[in-house]
Amino acid sequence: MVVLKFVFMPTPVAHTLAGAGIYFAFRRREDLWLFFAAVFAACFADLDFGLNFLTGKNYHHYFTHSLAFATLFSMGAFLAARASGRASPGRDALILFAAYLTHMGLDAFSKDTSEPYGMELWWPFSKEFAIAPVTLFSDIYRGTLAKLLSLHNWLAVAREVVLVGPIVAAIWWWRGRRV
Ligand SMILES: [Zn+2]
Repeated sequence: MVVLKFVFMPTPVAHTLAGAGIYFAFRRREDLWLFFAAVFAACFADLDFGLNFLTGKNYHHYFTHSLAFATLFSMGAFLAARASGRASPGRDALILFAAYLTHMGLDAFSKDTSEPYGMELWWPFSKEFAIAPVTLFSDIYRGTLAKLLSLHNWLAVAREVVLVGPIVAAIWWWRGRRV
C-alpha cells in the first residue's frame, strides 16, 4: 500500500542555506559553479515531489532520501565536473556528497506527521525509515494556497533561518577570511 505523506520538511530555504554552508566551508576560491551545484545537491532529494505529480503515487522521502542515492548523485556530479573540465572533479563530487547529506540531516530533525516517519535512508538495502529522536524543525502545511501561505508556514521558515542561518553565517565568516 502506498502511504501518502503530505509534509514537506524542512522547506528549500533550510536546504539552500545548508548547501551554501557546505560551499562556504570547502571552497578554495569564489566558484559559482560549485556554489549552485552545492545548493542544487542540498535540495535535490525533494525533487521526488515531481515523481508524485507524474505518477500519482507517493515517492516523497523514499529512495532520493537515501545514502545510496546520494552516492549515485555524487558519481553523476563527478562525471559532470570532469566533462566540464573542472580542475578537481573528485573534490567537487565529495563536496556535493556532503551537501546532499545535509538534506537527510535536516529532514531527520523535522516534525513528521504521517507514517512511515522519516525517510528510507538505507535504500535499497533496507525498507526501514529513519528519523531523529528529537524535532527541531516544524512541519509545513500544504494542499491549498491559503495553507501554503499560512502563518504556521512562515513561522516554520523563520525557525529554519534562525536555526541554520547563524551556523552558515559563522562558516562564511570563519572561512571567508581565508579565501
Ligand atoms: Zn527532503
